[in-house]
Amino acid sequence: MWLGSSFYIPDTLSWYPAEAADEKDDLKISEIEVFESQFMAEFRASDTRIQEVLQAQMADTTCKKLKKLVQKGWPWKPSAAPVSCRAFWSVQGELSIIRGLLMKGTTLVIPTALRKGILTRIHIGHMGTKKCIERARATVWWPGITNDIKTCIFSCETCLKEKTNIPEPLIPSPLSQAPLEVVGTDLAERKGKHYII
Ligand SMILES: [Zn+2]
Repeated sequence: MWLGSSFYIPDTLSWYPAEAADEKDDLKISEIEVFESQFMAEFRASDTRIQEVLQAQMADTTCKKLKKLVQKGWPWKPSAAPVSCRAFWSVQGELSIIRGLLMKGTTLVIPTALRKGILTRIHIGHMGTKKCIERARATVWWPGITNDIKTCIFSCETCLKEKTNIPEPLIPSPLSQAPLEVVGTDLAERKGKHYII
């Protein structure tokens, strides 16, 4: 286990729906434990990657504020929320804290400091926009991630070079239906003389 057991129950309770908070004694902790174990086992990011995100979230002021909002509840209107958290307003119902990690659904919320590095990892192999977005969707999220992926790919020098080196495709001619219906000519050179064929 990569986190101390002391982190476990408070985080479990913070993840558990708010209406159950008054019935802490009745919580079936073991069921939640099983759920979390299964969730983490199925989670695709490596332990090292998760630790890296956890540390970055702990150092990020927006993530700290978001965790408080998840635990204590959001205000009734966006303008009452901290400015840096307003971009998360529309997904507030999907945010949770699992073992100290701020998650959106089943993906890790990535703080600003890690986003550039993650974009580079997502674009490893120089795959196209669609593949990169699919790859990201499995594990990571932040507001505007789709646009950031597109910008990263459009400004990738390797991809730009690849695009300009694409050879012209061969255009097949339609087959003729009768003799001499289609006549083709070509130029040829032999021993210094030029011919039209
Ligand atoms: Zn590229």
